[in-house]
Order: sequence, then C-alpha cells, then structure tokens
Amino acid sequence: MSREEQYQIDLEKRIATYATRLKKLFGSVTSSIIKEVAMLYAKHAETNEEYPSFLYSAIQLEQIMQMIQKILFDLGAQEEAQLRAVWGEEYKRSLYHHLYFIEEDFGVSVNVPMLNGPMILAAVEHKWEGRHFSKRIRLRTDLLAAAIEDVITRASVQGWGVTRTSKEIMIRTTESWSNAVRLARTELNRAAAQGQSLAYQANSDIIEAKEFCATLDTKTSKVCRKVDGKKFPLDYDTPANPGKEGERIPNHPNCRSYWRPVMKSKVLESLERERAYKFGKESGYTKARTYEEWAKEKGIAT
Ligand SMILES: [Zn+2]
Repeated sequence: MSREEQYQIDLEKRIATYATRLKKLFGSVTSSIIKEVAMLYAKHAETNEEYPSFLYSAIQLEQIMQMIQKILFDLGAQEEAQLRAVWGEEYKRSLYHHLYFIEEDFGVSVNVPMLNGPMILAAVEHKWEGRHFSKRIRLRTDLLAAAIEDVITRASVQGWGVTRTSKEIMIRTTESWSNAVRLARTELNRAAAQGQSLAYQANSDIIEAKEFCATLDTKTSKVCRKVDGKKFPLDYDTPANPGKEGERIPNHPNCRSYWRPVMKSKVLESLERERAYKFGKESGYTKARTYEEWAKEKGIAT
C-alpha cells in the first residue's frame, strides 16, 4: 500500500471522529427543539385548549417556528465554523505529510512551500461545484426548518402526542446530520487533494505529473474507477487550472480519491543508482524515520 493510500485511510478515521463531534452538536440541537415543542404541549395541558387545535393556530406555529429557526441558524453557524477549522487543518496536514512521503519514498530533498493563515483561508473559500460549503450548510438548515414545520403541522392535523412529534423531529434532524457528514467527507477530501497539489507544485523540478487514484473497493464510484491511473499536470484541479467534471477530486459527494506523484525520470534513475551502489553513504535527503522527526527537522510545528 502506498503512503498516499494510507493517508486516505487515516483521513477516513479523522472524518469519523468529526462525524461524532457533529453528532453531539446535532444531538443538543434536537434536544433544544424538542424542549420547545414539549413546552408548547405543556402549556396546552394547563390551558385545556381543545386538542389538537393549539398547534394549528397560525400564531402558535409562527412563534415556535421562529424559535426553531433561531436554533437552526446557530447550528448552521457552528457547523460552518467547525468545518472551516478542520478544513484548514487537513489542508496543512496533507501538504506537509505528502512532502514527507516524497522524501521518504524517493530519497530526495523537497521544497517546503510557505503557508500562512491568509493562504489557508483563500483555499478554504474556494468553491466546489459552484457553491461554497457555507451556502450548502445554510440551504440544509433551511430545509431542516421546513421539514420540522411540516412535522408540527402534521402533528396538529393528525393529533399526535408529544412523544410521536419528538420522534418525527428526531428522524429529520438525524437525516440532516448524515447529510452534514457527507458534506464534511467531501470537503475534507477536497482539502487533502488541494494540499497534495500545493506540495507537488512546489516541487515541479522533481515531479513530472500527478496520477489520479481511486480508492478501489466495492464502494468505488464508476466515475472515479474510470479515471483511475490517469495522469494530470501539477496545477490541474486548482483555482489556477480548474478540474473537469468527472476528472477532479472530489469527483462527487463522498469521494475518496487522491493523487499520487509521478516522479521525473532523473529522480527515479538516481534512486535506482543509490539503491544499487550504497547503503549508509551521506546523502542530502532526510534521516528522519517518522513524520514527527521529519517535521522537527524542517521546523514545522506538529
Ligand atoms: Zn470518487
């Protein structure tokens, strides 16, 4: 297994950790919404209004929906802030790790490109498929608000009790959470691929091209299987040279594809010579045997 493929497997683990964090966020939001709804039911019980008309009243519905919309607006804002932060971390991690992989695999010293806060921010802001993820998050929370309004309306028409209504709300928020995880997976895959591209572009003196690699298993999409192994210029699929539909990373929601560097023949030849003639001779490239050792050597904070 290549180091790039291993990185992709580790990325899946980070996405799973992030999904758990999102689950907590969505869980607390679900509780807040259910609490609001339960309070409305309790108020009804005190006033003995005719059941189930209390929910059906336009004013009641408007009031509770305003409350829910506020809760969902905060959810969207928090989700966006979290995704922005992990996106930047993944971009940086991908850049440095893929540089390290080149030194380890090919025995050459790499250029470490400068990376600062504004550069990371610019990379985060770049749109994928025409819409930035902040817009996607807002669209989804709007959709969730509409779905919850629909639940409350149906609860009033069909006379559901608080238990049934809460359960229906939970189904909607869980669905929204799983869509949030899909967005995060797609976005973090983009962050990793953009980090790779930056690493390779900074080393165009030793890297010839980048090869599209699909994570090949039973879940691999047809579109990625088709382009697997195809080689592209180093600036391909970056803001400077946007990728074509069906041949970019991510290629679709939930994509797990990644790049692999294609080294220039002079690097491969010298690597072969090195391996054939010497062991333990002084050479320019890293002595580090772990990423942490290598990062220390390069002055990269871990
Ligand atoms: Zn894919």
